Parts: sequence; C-alpha cells; structure tokens
Amino acid sequence: MFEKADTVGGTSAWSGGTVWLPNNRHEVELGFSDSREEVLTCLMSLSHGLMEQPLVEAYVDTAPEVVAWLEDHSPVEFETLRGMSDYHPEHPGGKQEGRSLECTLFPFADLGDWAHRVTVGWQITGEITMSESSLGRKAPGGVPAEELERRKLRDERGAGQALVGRLLRGCLDRGVEPQVGSRGVRLLPGAGRVTGVLIEGPDGPFEAHARGGVVLATGGFEHDERLVKAFLRGPLARAVSVPTNTDDGLRMAMRVGADLTDMREAWWVATIDVDVAGWGRVPWQVNTERTRPHTIMVNDDGVRFTNEAANYNALGNAFHVVDVQRFAYVNHPAWLVLDHHFLSRYGLAGHRPPAPTPGWMIEAPTVTGLAERMGVPADAMRATVERWNGNAAAGSDPDFRRGDSHHDRAWGDPAFGGTHLGTLGPIDCPPYYAVRVRCGALGTKGGPRTDTQGRVLDVDGDVIEGLYAAGNAMGSVMGMTYGGHGGTLGPGLVFGYLSGRHAAALATPPMTCMTVPWRLAEQFADTRDDLTAVQLDIGHELVLRQARHAVLQVEPGGIEGAEVRGDLLRDGFG
Ligand SMILES: Cc1cc2nc3c(=O)[nH]c(=O)nc-3n(C[C@H](O)[C@H](O)[C@H](O)COP(=O)(O)OP(=O)(O)OC[C@H]3O[C@@H](n4cnc5c(N)ncnc54)[C@H](O)[C@@H]3O)c2cc1C
Repeated sequence: MFEKADTVGGTSAWSGGTVWLPNNRHEVELGFSDSREEVLTCLMSLSHGLMEQPLVEAYVDTAPEVVAWLEDHSPVEFETLRGMSDYHPEHPGGKQEGRSLECTLFPFADLGDWAHRVTVGWQITGEITMSESSLGRKAPGGVPAEELERRKLRDERGAGQALVGRLLRGCLDRGVEPQVGSRGVRLLPGAGRVTGVLIEGPDGPFEAHARGGVVLATGGFEHDERLVKAFLRGPLARAVSVPTNTDDGLRMAMRVGADLTDMREAWWVATIDVDVAGWGRVPWQVNTERTRPHTIMVNDDGVRFTNEAANYNALGNAFHVVDVQRFAYVNHPAWLVLDHHFLSRYGLAGHRPPAPTPGWMIEAPTVTGLAERMGVPADAMRATVERWNGNAAAGSDPDFRRGDSHHDRAWGDPAFGGTHLGTLGPIDCPPYYAVRVRCGALGTKGGPRTDTQGRVLDVDGDVIEGLYAAGNAMGSVMGMTYGGHGGTLGPGLVFGYLSGRHAAALATPPMTCMTVPWRLAEQFADTRDDLTAVQLDIGHELVLRQARHAVLQVEPGGIEGAEVRGDLLRDGFG
C-alpha cells in the first residue's frame, strides 16, 4: 500500500465516514425493511442512462457482504446513522432510514505510532461522530464536556477518523504497513498484463511488483485544473478533498489504454470560503447552512433559483444552468443569505455572534443595504425576501418545493419535529448576512471503466489483466447520482473489497500436485469466471491457483505419492 502524502487516510479521513451500504445487517437488527430489488429499483430510477446495470447489481449484491466481512474480520464496527434518509427517498425503492452506517468511536491510542500519521482535515476533525454532529440525526447543542474529556484520554475519534483508524488497525494487524511519501507514477507492463507500479519513494524511484494486481485507489482528479476543464460538465470552483488527489491514477490508467466513464461527473457540494485557524482561507461545505430555517440562496439577479435544502449532489445541477440568451452561468457563483436569527441559533462555519463578524461575510442592517453590498439589484432582492417570508409564514414553498421531500425535513432543525418549519423560516431578523457560494466537489467521479470485479477495461472492452480501480479513482457506479449519506465511501468500500479479493486470489501461491496417479474429476471455483473445470490425465502437473475455492474429487487410493502444498493442506485436503 503506497501513499503519496506523508500521512494516510486521504479525504476518507477528512470525511464524515458515513457509508451507504444498503440492505445491511444492521437494518435487519433494527427492524427496517429493505431488499435487493428495492435498492436496484431506487438506483436505476436515478440513472438517466448513465449507470451500468451489472455494476449496480455487483454493488447492491456485495454491499451487505462488505459490512459483515469488515465487522467479522477487522476492527471495523458500524452502527446505523439514525434518522437520516436516502437522498431521493421519494423515488421508488427509496428509504427514509437504515442504509447509512457510520463507525463507532475508535481509540487512536490503539494505533500506536500510526496515531499521528492519519491526516485530519479542517471541517470534520473527529472529536464527535456524524450522529452527534449538525449533519447527523439530532443536531444537539453538543456532546457533554465530561464525555469529550473522557474521549481525550484514549484519543477516541469518530466520523472519517474512526473509519480510517479502524481500517488502518486492520491492515497493521495483518502486517500491511502503508508506505508514505511514496507516489505511484507509472504502471509496469508484463506479458499482456500489468505487473506492478513504478513508485517515487522517499529514497528515489523503485519498482513494486504485484503478485495479484495493482489496485488504483488514488482518489479523483479534482485538483488538476486542466483535467477538470477537459472533462467536467460545468464549473467546479472548489475541491474539498486532500490536495494530493491530482489525477495520478487516471493518467496511469490512460497510459495503458483504459476506457473511461462518468468523466463529466463529480460528487458536487455547495461551498463558501471561510478562515480556519491553522489553515487560512479554505472552502467549507454548506449543508445545514442551506437546509435550516432563516436562510436562502440567491443568484446575482437577487432571485432564488432552486430548492436550497435539496441534497448537495443534486444541487450541483442548479449551479450548472446556462441562460442561453446571456450565455452565462446565471446561478454561479451564488449567494447564501441569512439573518441574525439563523446565525445566533445555528452559527456558520464555526462563527456565532456575539463574536465579531468575520471578514469572509458581508453584513448589513437592512435587506436593501445587504443587496447593495452584494452588488445585486436591491428591488429584486427585497421582493425575493418578501415572497420567501410570506411562504415561510404559510409553511410551504410553492416556488421550489423546499421541505416537500423527507430529505429536506430530515436535514432541517429537529426542534420542529420533521415538519416543513424545520427548513422554512423568514429572513426578518436584522442584521442580515451574505456569503458567496461556489460549486465545489468532494471529489470527481470519472475514471477507468471496470467490470464487476473492479478490473479495469481497455478501450475495446477487454480486461487489462492485473489492473483494478476503486474509490474515486474508478469510473463511478453511480452515474450522476448519490444514494444517500455515505454515497461515495459505500461504493469505494465495495469495489475496494471486490478488487482486493480478486487480486488476492490471483496472488495465492500456486500449489502443485506432481506426477501422481490420480485424476481430477471436478473442480469448481466460487470466483465464478476465473476457473473452468479441468480434467487431468495421470502424470500431469496441475498448478492450482485459487485452489482453496476448489472442490476436488480424487479416485480412491490415488493420492499416494502426491506432493500437495499450501492451502490444500490447510483446508484438510491432504
Ligand atoms: C468534509 C468531508 C466530509 C465527507 N463526508 C463523507 C461521508 O460521510 N460519506 C461519504 O461517502 N463521503 C464523504 N465525503 C467524500 C469522501 O471523503 C470521498 O469521496 C472519499 O474519501 C474518496 O475516497 P478515495 O479513497 O477515492 O480517495 P481518498 O480518500 O482521497 O484517498 C486517495 C489517496 O490517494 C493518495 N494518492 C493520490 N495519488 C497517489 C499516487 N500517485 N500514489 C499514491 N497515493 C496517491 C492521496 O494522497 C489520498 O491519500 C466527505 C468529504 C469531505 C471533504
């Protein structure tokens, strides 16, 4: 495992660590109903022709297995992210709860020297779980101080830190130690396959040879301005991922002839620029800042243009609208507009009155004054706010149907009991504030096209042997959609698991049965397409890769003199 940065975890460690793994065993434990068919129906209803059904099926079929496998074979321990729904719960097969999981707190003390070598971002820093955060189910005032003190003792962390910490512990337990400061730059070709990767390590370049295969898990290409312009369908002004995700995996795959898919798409999010101590000015995802009462978004015409409480990925579409007359992206960049009521109740990016208004925010005592400072038409802005306030008082948004979806209300203020008022609220409490909103992304979605085992396909649709992709480095299974909380890490885990399992099976040391009077009658492999039935004559040598998946029938007495090595013996065959 080679990591380009000096710390491990990538954006996954900066994240909420939530994984959308539908039909998982925790849903069963909690009594939620779910099924393969419902998940498939839901996802395919969001496809717009961009999703490949076999890949979606592989994802849906493997997701429950990944949850069980990780929990049974590693320190990973999930629990349901309560109260949070799919991102399109009203679509057929959509659910209001159960498919999103997060890791329980993980004591970083258990990582020993590695505790300080996991990267930490600026927005979600791990002291609390997603459930406890304003993005989670309860949005409480905060975790009690004594509980936070208790966590400090063993450095217990939640969210993405917990997910990465637990996965890292699982790797270390198996003797897999990541090599940091080691950048993969070029794939090594062999006899018709990829055999390894050229690494630029701390002590210079070296070749790493892979027995099973190379899995590209290098994140997206969101920090490569040229590729962003070349491929993405609309503006991506801010990337919130680790800066080392610069496209290396994509270039490596393109060099060996990989087919590409989903290149136009990203995991879109709305962002504002804020100052964070120790980081300077950074992009900040605005989620509840859009979905709670007393806040709206307007464009430079001073008018609302979308349902602000829609899921962040879908919202990307609103930023990409072009007015054909003006030939302009009329909704980008946009403005987040809020009043003092919002700011004092919820705060914004760590700021809350009475602290002085930060420099990244515009403030004015009246709506007119705010419009003037924003440089938008004051008349239009006043009309927008008046209309919004009237709709909020009436408890509905006939203009953009904000609050009509269960999703919007689930992200609203829970104090309003899941009603429309949890997301609708007037902007009438001065002073008023505005911040520029730009279209950002958690990461890009495009990358090499793969088969259902994560094997990269070439431009003719043939497998490039020895090459796999997972996570945002892989052409996404999700097309232009986002299943629910954890919609990026869920597929990342599934195709990481499938790729790893497939490559590991190929890397299993060959086992030899030599010059023996026996006959192989039948051989089955549960890896489906890799092995076919083989029949051997007496005296032949058989090299069995993946023999631990095989069922062998041997003629009575025929095993004498055989030399059997490896897993066959372990499985009691010898
Ligand atoms: C604040 C925040 C919250 C989020 N919350 C969630 C959430 O709760 N659920 C969810 O599903 N998604 C969430 N996301 C999105 C999610 O974090 C990313 O989509 C996901 O982490 C991508 O995983 P990945 O493994 O593809 O890439 P990463 O986790 O970014 O890992 C890629 C790694 O590859 C390394 N690398 C790059 N090039 C090379 C090279 N040439 N050689 C070696 N190493 C290389 C990088 O340094 C990086 O460490 C969130 C994102 C952010 C920023």
